[in-house]
Amino acid sequence: MIDPLASAAFTALLERRGGDLLLIVDDSLRILRAGPEAAVLAERPDESLAGMSLIAAFGSAPLDSLAREAVATRAILIGEAELGHLGERQFAVDAVPLGQGGGLLISLHDITALRRMERVRRDFVANLGHELRTPLTSIKLLAETLAAGSVDPATTHDFATQIERETDHLAQLVDELLDLSMIESGQTRLAIEALDPDEVVAGCVERIRPVAERRDVSVRLLPHSGPKLHALADPGRLGQALLNLAHNAVKYSHHGGEVRIGWEALEGVVRFSVADDGIGVPDSHKARIFERFYKVDRSRAREKDAEQLGGSAGIGLAIVRHIAEAHGGSVGLLSEEGLGSTFWIDVPSAPDA
Ligand code: ADP
Repeated sequence: MIDPLASAAFTALLERRGGDLLLIVDDSLRILRAGPEAAVLAERPDESLAGMSLIAAFGSAPLDSLAREAVATRAILIGEAELGHLGERQFAVDAVPLGQGGGLLISLHDITALRRMERVRRDFVANLGHELRTPLTSIKLLAETLAAGSVDPATTHDFATQIERETDHLAQLVDELLDLSMIESGQTRLAIEALDPDEVVAGCVERIRPVAERRDVSVRLLPHSGPKLHALADPGRLGQALLNLAHNAVKYSHHGGEVRIGWEALEGVVRFSVADDGIGVPDSHKARIFERFYKVDRSRAREKDAEQLGGSAGIGLAIVRHIAEAHGGSVGLLSEEGLGSTFWIDVPSAPDA
C-alpha cells in the first residue's frame, strides 16, 4: 500500500501556494516534510527545513508546545502562534496526530489580516465611546444644574447655549461618521466632470472667508499662471474635501494668520492645496494624521482653542483621504511644527483636448 503522505497528491497539497501551510513532524518534532511557503515563513532556503527541529526552524515556543502536547496526548489540538519575521504574522495552528506510525500534521492558517481588522474595530468603538462621552458628560452636568433650579436667568441662558453647542458637536460627529462610512463602503457614486480648477478654488475661498474672518484669519486665492486644464472630479465631493482642509487651516491658524488656497498642474494630476502659517504638525504625527479619530496632542494651546470653536473628532482628514482615493487620487502634507502646514489633494487631470 502506498504511504498517503508520500503520494503525489499529498506533495501537491504541501506545495500549493496561497492556502494553509502544511508541515509533517515526527514525534520528536523534527520536520519530515514541508512545502516551499513554510521555508519562506521560516526565512530559510527552500528544502532546508527537512531534518530541523520545529523550534529551530520557526523559533516559536507556542507552536512547539502545542505540537509537543499533541504528540503526548495523541489528540487534535488547535491554537495560535506568531511566526515569520519578528513574529509579525499571526497563524491559527492545527496539530493533527497521524495514525500508528506517529508524527503530526501541522497546518498553519494566516489570520494576520483578521486580527488586524478586529483591532481596528476595537479601536474604533473605543474612540467613538470617548468622543461621545465628553459632550454627553457636559450636557448631563449642565442639565442637572438647570433642573436643580438654583441658577439666575443669565446663567440659565448661558448653560442652555452650552447645551446647544455640545449637541451641535454630537450631531456633527454623527454626520461625519455616516458620511465617512458611506464613502468608505463605496456607496457614494461620484459624478465625475471636467472641472475648471480656478472655479473650484474660488468656490472654496468664498465659502471659507466668512468663517476665517470671524477668527481674524485672512484668506488669499493664489493666482494660477500657465496653461489651462481641467480636473476630473465630482464637484460636490472635491469641494467638500477642499473645504475640510480650509476649515482646518483656519482652525489651526494663529489670530491674524493667512490661509492660501490654490492649484497647480503636475504629471497627470491637478493638485489643490491649502496652506497656513499656523501651529503645524509635529513630524511624529504626520504618518497617521489622515486616519480616522487621529488627533495631535490635545494639550497644544491653539488646539484647545480650536476645539472650543469647531469641534474636533479627528474625522475630517479621513474623509478628505477617502474622497481623494475614491477619485483615484491621493492626499499629502508638508508641515513644520510652529511654522505652518500645506495640505493637498491630487485628482486626475483631463487628458489634453
Ligand atoms: P479634527 O476634527 O480634529 O480637526 P481632522 O481629521 O480634520 O480632525 O484633523 C486631525 C488632526 O490633524 C487635528 O486634530 C489636528 O491636530 C491636525 N491638523 C489638521 N489640520 C491641521 C493644520 N492645518 N495645522 C495643524 N494641525 C492640523
